[in-house]
Amino acid sequence: MNAENIIRSKRDGRELAREEIEYFIKGLVNKNVADYQAAAWAMAVYFQGMTRRETSDLALAMAYSGEVMDLSAIEGIKVDKHSTGGVGDKTTPVVVPLCAAAGVPVAKLSGRGLGFTGGTIDKFESIPGFRTELSRQEFINQVNRIKAAVISQTGNLVPADKILYAIRDVTATVDSIPLIASSVMSKKIASGADGIVLDIKVGQGAFMKNLEQATGLAESMVAIGRQAGRRVSAVLSNMDRPLGQAIGNALEIQEAVDTLRGQGPGDLTELCIILGAHMVYLGGAAGSIEEAHDVVKELLASGKGYNKLCDMVAAQGGRAEDLDNIAQLNPASLQVDIRSDRAGYIQGLRTDEIGRIVMRLGAGREMTGQPIDHAVGVKIYRKTGDLVETHDILATLYANDPQKLDQAIKAWPQVYTWGDDPPPTAAIILGTVSE
Ligand code: URA
Repeated sequence: MNAENIIRSKRDGRELAREEIEYFIKGLVNKNVADYQAAAWAMAVYFQGMTRRETSDLALAMAYSGEVMDLSAIEGIKVDKHSTGGVGDKTTPVVVPLCAAAGVPVAKLSGRGLGFTGGTIDKFESIPGFRTELSRQEFINQVNRIKAAVISQTGNLVPADKILYAIRDVTATVDSIPLIASSVMSKKIASGADGIVLDIKVGQGAFMKNLEQATGLAESMVAIGRQAGRRVSAVLSNMDRPLGQAIGNALEIQEAVDTLRGQGPGDLTELCIILGAHMVYLGGAAGSIEEAHDVVKELLASGKGYNKLCDMVAAQGGRAEDLDNIAQLNPASLQVDIRSDRAGYIQGLRTDEIGRIVMRLGAGREMTGQPIDHAVGVKIYRKTGDLVETHDILATLYANDPQKLDQAIKAWPQVYTWGDDPPPTAAIILGTVSE
């Protein structure tokens, strides 16, 4: 067996054997396969695709390419969630406490943002004192005690994905369904949870541009989970517009807090109830999805979900009282309202461009390791389908750098398309895929 033959087989459209996939992934980690060979192979996969069996074998080979988390010391059925990346996606700080309040343990590893989508760890770090690095023992003890912890990915988890993703990122091979499915699922399998709920974003601001592609990705991920002995459900959600109103780290935490207090935007609340219900169901705290919905709605209405977030923040070094003032504790010295210079219906929003504008304000990073500004971002009051009058406030930009603010103000009008008639309505939940 050698890398060249494996690349040739895939280039010519042949199905790879499990041993070939394992050989290639091991070689990637121990440097017997060169980066340029991995690049050629990724391009061959991009064009030729992979069967379900190959995709599952790839996910498992990657999952076990390094350390795997052993969560067996945590009591109960451990549940995790993952989003394929969106703009304004602050579901994790809402659903993790809701699920934990239902008694289902969530031991969550999360990442930092890169590019136009934000990262959960960056968002949590806008809470003063919040520690995102806990020792393994602290992590396990906290989940046993309060059922929830969110920490940053540590250790040598899935080294094959780190290498391959960096290569895909610069060789135009990220948006391949088998490569995305195996990348995401390898990390989820290595993170050790028994049940996994996936939030697959569909639309303008997502990798998956249409429902057909997203359904294919969801089915592939559910199949990988089955092969790995994990229960997986996927929710397909609309990313043709940002989720909720707030984009930017502190602003998003504030909105997550509002949502747990029953005052969040409708689309975010609806998505969190669905995701939370799937997590509660997989975790065995409800006998059906319908019952799980009722459980989650009650935890929202009673404030038990919010109390759980307070417990989690206190356990990880923050102060629950600060959750009332996250935006003030992360001050943005410049705030500018953007008003509409025309009347009409908003036909569409360029969600990815909004993400880029917020990233350039300093909320995100173009390259790993760049510092970010937790305070900056945008609140969007008018979204797709809204009828707007001239001079209505469309959004407020939050900034700390006058030059960056100026650029954002100039770029902002380009995120809208306008029309005289209302566009077709679009639901936030577009479908679900489970076993
Ligand atoms: N997110 C991942 O973790 N991997 C991909 O390939 C795409 C999105």
